[in-house]
Amino acid sequence: MKSILENRPALTNEVNKAAEVAGYLWQKGWAERNGGNIVVNITEFVDDEIRALAPISEVKAIGTVLPYLKGCYFYCKGTNKRMRDLARWPMEHGSVIRILDDCASYVIIADQPVQPTSELPSHLCMHNYLISKGSTYKASLHTHPIELIAMTHHEPFLKKDVLTNLLWSMIPETKAFCPRGLGIIPYALPSSVALAEATIKELDDYDVVMWEKHGACAVGEDIMDAFDQIDVLSKSAQIYINARNMGFVPDGMSQEQMREMTTAFNLPK
Ligand SMILES: [Zn+2]
Repeated sequence: MKSILENRPALTNEVNKAAEVAGYLWQKGWAERNGGNIVVNITEFVDDEIRALAPISEVKAIGTVLPYLKGCYFYCKGTNKRMRDLARWPMEHGSVIRILDDCASYVIIADQPVQPTSELPSHLCMHNYLISKGSTYKASLHTHPIELIAMTHHEPFLKKDVLTNLLWSMIPETKAFCPRGLGIIPYALPSSVALAEATIKELDDYDVVMWEKHGACAVGEDIMDAFDQIDVLSKSAQIYINARNMGFVPDGMSQEQMREMTTAFNLPK
């Protein structure tokens, strides 16, 4: 069967980025078994021929109405699929879906009827919210970064912006490349509406949030941008933990040094 990616270099590039990121997640130990999710809004790469493609699944309900997603198309990791497999075969472990005009249901259109991740409704809620705000962000990522999750098992780190400031202060690049910091979302059942709603609320303030004792969720211009933001935070977490392992509490950059960064790099916070 012909792949939807054939003769579509721009769309292929977006899917290849998802595959590349999936490989990194596995290599970093952030994607055990089928852990983590990738959902990318690919609507800008969709042509008339794709819009005319017949569905290869029955109509599936999203479970909510998302008015800003009318006519949108997404590449989604498949449910129960592994990142390490998606890295090599993105169209066998993920699929392309079309949101139907009722904004409450979707169909799979390519390449195979791979059922999207069970987290699809919460990811679509995030994309709906991003579009409603006029955001240009196209990607959402959920993964299990070891050190960052470990830090959410410590109550003092869960207060607003304690981790943001600690992680920013470990190395200047973290503030430069994750400039909105790290939001914290108290523990909620995975896949729950409560978790999705809390995440959307925090997206006003942050591009990356930690789900307490579970994982990170990031949004970005593309999937590489979402990954990079979690990656720089993770680097800072590792520096902090390495210092603690050497027997001392790291000094961190001073508040003045961090303010200097904000001015020099024209950062939002
Ligand atoms: Zn998870």
